[in-house]
Amino acid sequence: MIPGPVEFDPEVLRALGAKTASHVAPEFIAVFGRALKRLREVCLAPSAQPFVVAGSGTLAMELAVANLVEPGDRALVVNTGYFSDRMALLLERYGAEVVHARCAPGEAPDVASVEALLTSGRFKVMTVTHVDTSTGVLAPAEALVKAADRHGVLSVVDGVCATAGEAFHQEAWGADVYLTASQKAIGVPPGLALLTVSPRAMAAWRARRTPVRSLYADFSEWLPIMEAYEAGKAAYFATPPVNLVCALDVSLGQILREGMEARFARHRRMARSFRAAWRALGLKMLPVSESVTAHTLSALYYPEGVDAAVLGRAREQGVVLAGGLHPQLKTRYFRVGHMNVVGPGDVLATVGAVERALAAAGHRATPGVAVAAAQTELLSAG
Ligand code: PMP
Repeated sequence: MIPGPVEFDPEVLRALGAKTASHVAPEFIAVFGRALKRLREVCLAPSAQPFVVAGSGTLAMELAVANLVEPGDRALVVNTGYFSDRMALLLERYGAEVVHARCAPGEAPDVASVEALLTSGRFKVMTVTHVDTSTGVLAPAEALVKAADRHGVLSVVDGVCATAGEAFHQEAWGADVYLTASQKAIGVPPGLALLTVSPRAMAAWRARRTPVRSLYADFSEWLPIMEAYEAGKAAYFATPPVNLVCALDVSLGQILREGMEARFARHRRMARSFRAAWRALGLKMLPVSESVTAHTLSALYYPEGVDAAVLGRAREQGVVLAGGLHPQLKTRYFRVGHMNVVGPGDVLATVGAVERALAAAGHRATPGVAVAAAQTELLSAG
């Protein structure tokens, strides 16, 4: 139950163990083409250009930055923590002048102050981390990308800990790049960088004055490949991770069968059950309010007298949790991921294990109080 890699559906895992087809075999071309179309549907971005490239989420971030940013461009980083800092590092590496709209850990950005910066800043791009995995904060992505759109600024949204878990309507909201990785709510083991890029962002890439500085991250290399596979033809730039692409196709098919709205609602429902349990145990969450709390993970302060040793006790109870990640607070909190195939059984098993681990660590609570709170919430949600 860490915030990625998460638990994967057996059908997805079976695709990884299947015989590896040639990357130019007709059956693989059909699978890759369908996965690209499905990615567009999952991101609710019918006009966007999808990219599926071997690499992790950091490569997805790099693809966005390398292609949209040229030396001297100005970039606004809406900074909610560790992964926003990484985006800033990348932007600087590609020559951007970076301005941060920085939030204290646990806080979400104030849209009005971001808008004030957009008004005065002459920015080319604005980046937002939809869910900051280091703090469990959910950014107001819709309001932020709409503000960027009003100011003609390209928006890049890091959905690594959000895509297919948190509601996101790329095209309706006007987001330019939605990027993610395979190993979280997309439901595929680590190894794929995924992006959907709006026509406006593709036009900005075409209008570049300078070549993209990275070869492996250059859209010029990847666009013909993605277009070819979608058109039912093979093309080669670098060998695609055949089995991972097959697994992606299976998972995206499952996601679309569940339906995007139903999937977002299930993640919200499971998150509410976890929150009810944490409240019952007297645990304080890192995000400062319910409205800025992610539905894909919980970040929780250790209670008085408890420290990271409780993670070992949780493991003894059968549940793997994650420690803190935010540089300023990392020894003071822990994280519980709840993405992808998470259901009521996972909620109750996890909450039960956390209760037992906390009890073993000396935290006092009425036995079963958290399980009961989660169950009550599950029952009331139907
Ligand atoms: N952005 C966010 C929000 C993340 O949570 C992560 C990874 N946890 C990344 C980017 C980087 O992804 P990866 O570790 O797959 O490179």
